[in-house]
Amino acid sequence: MELNLVMLGPPGAGKGTQARQLRRKWNIPHISTGAMLRDAVQAGTPLARQVAVIMESGGLISDEVITRVVIERLSHPDTKSGFLLDGYPRTIPQAESLDRMVVGRAPLVIIDIVLSEAEVVRRLASRMVCAECGANAIGEGPACHDCGGPLVPRADDRELIVLNRLKVYREQTEPLISYYGSRPTYCRIDGARLPDDVTADIIKAVERHR
Ligand code: AMP
Repeated sequence: MELNLVMLGPPGAGKGTQARQLRRKWNIPHISTGAMLRDAVQAGTPLARQVAVIMESGGLISDEVITRVVIERLSHPDTKSGFLLDGYPRTIPQAESLDRMVVGRAPLVIIDIVLSEAEVVRRLASRMVCAECGANAIGEGPACHDCGGPLVPRADDRELIVLNRLKVYREQTEPLISYYGSRPTYCRIDGARLPDDVTADIIKAVERHR
């Protein structure tokens, strides 16, 4: 049965970490717009310079550009049995575009991972990411658990940028909670717990709603 998941929540809430677990459980592609943009920057595509400057400041790429990327990605055959969107939508216009993209498909199941701002700042200050596969690691040893690659800080996790990302989240992304909140498939999950406990809660909530 088709399963179309959307991960919501502030930066550092654990969207990426949870998505990596859940994609294995349901065998659906994990589509991280942040990861796609970081890959595009590395590959030096024509948009790369512009995108890199915006990402490094913690701002958002335009709705039009990022929506084009997502429309293209959701047209791939591997999304037939569903997808797990991580980092999109981030604004009301993006959410409206996504609703248009899924007309005729299974309804979106919204996983909103809730975490306080103080905890976000604390987590992002100690977050490392794998330079090889992009996996997140918080307070772990020198090598990636998934692939053994070297761990490095993420460029946009520096403190001032984190504060800007939080401001952008509050102003542009938080309104999505009201946008989705009244849907029967909206699930609020407490993110301030161990990753495995959060995963278990998400699985329970999704199984109830699908
Ligand atoms: P993330 O890895 O999801 O934290 O995304 C990293 C950065 O990529 C964000 O701070 C934005 O600059 C950009 N980005 C990712 N997804 C979107 C989106 N849906 N809309 C606009 N910008 C995005």
